[in-house]
Amino acid sequence: MSAASKTSVLPRRVDALKACAQSASYGGVIMPEELPRLSAAVVSIRREVAAKLDFFRDESGYRVMSGELDALVSVECQRCLSAFDYDLHAQMELSIVVSETQLESLPKDSEGWLLEEDGEADLYEAVEEELLLALPIVAYHDQADCLAQGQYSTGDFVEPVAEKKNPFAALGSLKLANKADSKE
Ligand SMILES: [Zn+2]
Repeated sequence: MSAASKTSVLPRRVDALKACAQSASYGGVIMPEELPRLSAAVVSIRREVAAKLDFFRDESGYRVMSGELDALVSVECQRCLSAFDYDLHAQMELSIVVSETQLESLPKDSEGWLLEEDGEADLYEAVEEELLLALPIVAYHDQADCLAQGQYSTGDFVEPVAEKKNPFAALGSLKLANKADSKE
């Protein structure tokens, strides 16, 4: 796809207060190398991350950034240890505040985004944070695609089969050995 050349790059920094006052929207992509924490958390980021971020004031007057994120990352299957592509979608809604007092007065169910007083927002940081939260804690292939499937003859395909002996058994004997050495 050569669509990337037509897609604009999302600005990193915006004046969030002004953006809310103007009900501004930002759409664009973020280059993988701009997201070092996400890069470190996955095998690779497969393409630019697409983001659409809307700034506005909600009906109660709170400043809000609402966003939709779309990424494709490669993660390691924890069953067969091979990498596979994982669609990472996330929706975010942050209430923009510029003081601790404002942060504390937010409704309980809203997530605050505390900015400097001038309202300058780092969009990449917010997007990266949200994508990290959206990552699966443990990633598995679909059963049909998983290289490890042959190893599972029964059951629901949930628990990886430990090939090694129980590591705690070894640990136990180590502990015993240490105990024997110590004078306690
Ligand atoms: Zn697998």
